[in-house]
Amino acid sequence: MQTQTKRPVAVVTGASRGIGAAIATELARNGFEVALLSRDAAALERLRKQVVDAGGRAWPRVCDVTKRDDVTSALDQLEAEVCAPRVLVNNAGMGGPFHRADEVSVAEWDQLFGVNVEGVRNLCQWALPRMKTQAHGRIVNIASIMGLFGGAQSSTYAATKHALVGYSKAIAAEWGAYGITCNALCPGYIETEMLANAPAASRQRLLERIPVKRFGTPEEVAGMVSFLVGPLGGYVNGSALVMDGGLSSHLASDLPSF
Ligand code: NDP
Repeated sequence: MQTQTKRPVAVVTGASRGIGAAIATELARNGFEVALLSRDAAALERLRKQVVDAGGRAWPRVCDVTKRDDVTSALDQLEAEVCAPRVLVNNAGMGGPFHRADEVSVAEWDQLFGVNVEGVRNLCQWALPRMKTQAHGRIVNIASIMGLFGGAQSSTYAATKHALVGYSKAIAAEWGAYGITCNALCPGYIETEMLANAPAASRQRLLERIPVKRFGTPEEVAGMVSFLVGPLGGYVNGSALVMDGGLSSHLASDLPSF
């Protein structure tokens, strides 16, 4: 049975930790009831409690974004119990495999495309017709600077994130007339668990290349999402927004000047 909610609903995938948890927390703080999706029930419950303790509202649901039936049943239940979302943040994603293009197995390729691309398609195909009915929708897809550039040992990840940027732009063109915007956010290196566990020498080499001399924070990514889905973000549509501390701004720094 549908319960009345005065809060608009936002769906955040991969909300169990890292960037997704920060986005969910920020959207809850901004007045959204946040549907928290991931495969980790315990982590989602911890986040739900944090959100509620801070005066917000959250609706946790275990969901593997690669499984279309899982996605459909989670979002159908959300629509029935709360209401259809006005905001969708496709954040769930995987990194790796960190080896050469000719060494990437078909299974690794398929797994990464399953999460980073097909997962996003599963959510978008459910949400777009509902957003069209509401004549309002905000979709943010968390891509990466690897959605705009390449990098050694990252062919599969770069391929998935380039796909996500292209998908976001095509949706923006196709659905903008119905009040729906869709953008890709392209972060550089963000201080999450994965980066914290990287060897000190690798962290140092990265920092030397980043003009602001620090990594980004999940909260800074959440701030960008918050702007894009908020009242002043409506004219940004079909963009691939880079936030990388300037890392990609000086690709020619090492080239000879003449
Ligand atoms: P984490 O590895 O910390 O978190 C990944 C999230 O994705 C987890 O919540 C995980 O949830 C979820 N997830 C993974 N697979 C699935 C699945 N099949 N179904 C549902 N949820 C899934 O990553 P980050 O927070 O670092 O990254 C978040 C996003 O940001 C990713 O898309 C990543 O590519 C992108 N990004 C990250 C950068 C960084 O430096 N950290 C830089 C640029 C982009 P669970 O395991 O609970 O299911």
